[in-house]
Amino acid sequence: MKIDFAKLQDQYQLYKTEIDEAIQAVLNKSNYIMGEEITQLEESLQEFTKAKFAISCSSGTDALLLAMMALDIKPGDEIITTPFTFIATAETIAFLGATPVFVDIDEKTYNLDASLIEEKITSKTKAIIPVSIYGQPADMQKIQDIANKHNLKVIIDGAQSFGSTFNNITDSVWGDISTTSFFPAKPLGCFGDGGAVFTANEELAEKMKSLRVHGQSKRYHHKYIGMGGRLDTIQAAILNVKLKYYEKDLALRQEVASKYTKSLARKDLVLPYVDKKATSAWAQYSVRVKNRDSVQEKLKEAGIPTAVHYPKPLHIQECFEYLGYKKGGFPISEIVSEEIMSLPMNPYLTDEEIEYIIGYF
Ligand SMILES: *Cc1c(COP(=O)(O)O)cnc(C)c1O
Repeated sequence: MKIDFAKLQDQYQLYKTEIDEAIQAVLNKSNYIMGEEITQLEESLQEFTKAKFAISCSSGTDALLLAMMALDIKPGDEIITTPFTFIATAETIAFLGATPVFVDIDEKTYNLDASLIEEKITSKTKAIIPVSIYGQPADMQKIQDIANKHNLKVIIDGAQSFGSTFNNITDSVWGDISTTSFFPAKPLGCFGDGGAVFTANEELAEKMKSLRVHGQSKRYHHKYIGMGGRLDTIQAAILNVKLKYYEKDLALRQEVASKYTKSLARKDLVLPYVDKKATSAWAQYSVRVKNRDSVQEKLKEAGIPTAVHYPKPLHIQECFEYLGYKKGGFPISEIVSEEIMSLPMNPYLTDEEIEYIIGYF
């Protein structure tokens, strides 16, 4: 058997007629930049997430930049975040000249450990950026309480978690600004790069809309230093089709995760843990194994692809050497990076395929 990790092709085939028509409609209108499909998508995103304002943009990375630019994050500011994430989370902080301040993760959820945040807060701290790793939000209530107490902003990196919830509220609604990514392999993916920011604050929403088109207030009049951060109309047209079926996709991902968990529980593995207050969008189903290299090799030979998200925590990445962190600084992030391994995860894995994968453990 040969297993496909994300089954992007299957998903296209499933909705092909509708997606092809949606793309063709954009070509027929040639409304490539900020066409009506963008407005439609933003309204649908608001409806789906219950966020007051949804603003589409060019990627999950640019969504983080828009959020921090809207909150006036500048050189010298400190931003607390996790070292166990994709580089974009901390890269964007550093790109704006601010300083990422890392806090270790919880051993069960792999999300920011809220109990370690307060000791890292200084007079320079401006914001906390929790990441909803693998699709599950961090403990947003605890993090929000800490932020309120210290007058800090919260930006959620929800690149992996569109549609997830904490206390029955989507993670697009938690925080001052929440972000997501529509990169093809994310739970809700388009056919290229894309992303969105969410907020309940009208002023921030207006500012991010302006920042996404070079900070303009009206055409060729620029209020802010902004960026070229728009989503393509074609990508919005694709997302408009896929969003209609997303609730179903999420349910199917949950089913796949439950099947994995049920069958793997008996094996010598650490399985994903979802807090009772949370739901996950299951961007990844990641397990911890002691001898990862040999397990990956064995699975590969059997036609089962695996991936490692992420093999090296950010505090020991070369680009962050200047921050002065050392190996050993964040022990949970480090041990998880050494043992974590993601299994094929997508809404279309068959029972037969799941059985086959489980058989190799
Ligand atoms: C994918 C991802 C991003 C970046 O999103 P892009 O759309 O690829 O720019 C940021 N943060 C996390 C946690 C991600 O997984």
